[in-house]
Amino acid sequence: MTSYKNADLHCHSVVSDGTLTPELLAARAHANGVDLWALTDHDEVGGQARALAAAQALGMAYLSGVEISVTFAGTTVHIVGLGFDPTNPQMVQGLAATRGGRNERARDMAEQLAAVGIAGAYEGALRYVGNPELVSRTHFARFLVETGVCRDTSEVFRKYLIEGRPGYVPHRWASLGDAVRWITQAGGVAVIAHPARYKFTANEEFALFSEFQQHGGRGVEVVTGSHSASEAARYADLARELGLAASRGSDFHSPDESHTDLGKLPPLPADLTPAWDLVAAHIHPGR
Ligand code: AMP
Ligand code: MN
Ligand code: MN
Ligand code: MN
Repeated sequence: MTSYKNADLHCHSVVSDGTLTPELLAARAHANGVDLWALTDHDEVGGQARALAAAQALGMAYLSGVEISVTFAGTTVHIVGLGFDPTNPQMVQGLAATRGGRNERARDMAEQLAAVGIAGAYEGALRYVGNPELVSRTHFARFLVETGVCRDTSEVFRKYLIEGRPGYVPHRWASLGDAVRWITQAGGVAVIAHPARYKFTANEEFALFSEFQQHGGRGVEVVTGSHSASEAARYADLARELGLAASRGSDFHSPDESHTDLGKLPPLPADLTPAWDLVAAHIHPGR
């Protein structure tokens, strides 16, 4: 089995809420030494063919990817899928259903922002949208920075667009079981993304991991741009305890916004099983 020293299996393009095209992301990953890459747009596989072609042109190994929005215990949880068939009809239809409702949600978000004196947010956010089916809070955040309402996107996500703040519209995403099944029946491995980001109680977190495994989920993101070193260590321990494979990904969105660049992550602890080993047969080899 080929061993990969710099896998980066989590990032976003203009097909969801990133600012770079799949081709520019591939070039950036390659330039930063990534030797196994996956594009994981939110709820969308529309960029997969371009990402694969760009990776192959650079001689960089590639795995298909997606990051599915799930509602679990009243909280939004993200499930990354890797190494599945991106043309699988159940996956494609499931993702389309998950995306449905984003537009209406966006109009409701804009209405709330208008009520606190921020006009034109729907049209403003749309100017940043690359995929009309994927209006995201990130696009609203860019509009709020552009118009000077906030200094940067992290200020936006403290003052707006989150529960209890103007511009937050609760949304019902896919179920955990559906997301895990779409990925696994399409031949892929399901991974719980950035687990330290969820504000779960210990009991809720235990329920998430056990239900995830019961549905056939097999991986957890241990090293990610949104984990500190101690958070990575904590989820490395949990991976050992539960027998989960470990994934690694920057969650890169934009050169201007992301703290962690593609390929610039600490290594996975050597004793953990890399999640990509579980879908080794589905890796499109590089050179
Ligand atoms: P949505 O899927 O429309 O709810 O938007 C979620 C996206 O908002 C995430 O994928 C992130 O890109 C972004 N986001 C959420 N929370 C934060 C935060 N605290 N700082 C920066 N970006 C965030
Ligand atoms: Mn995002
Ligand atoms: Mn996420
Ligand atoms: Mn992400």
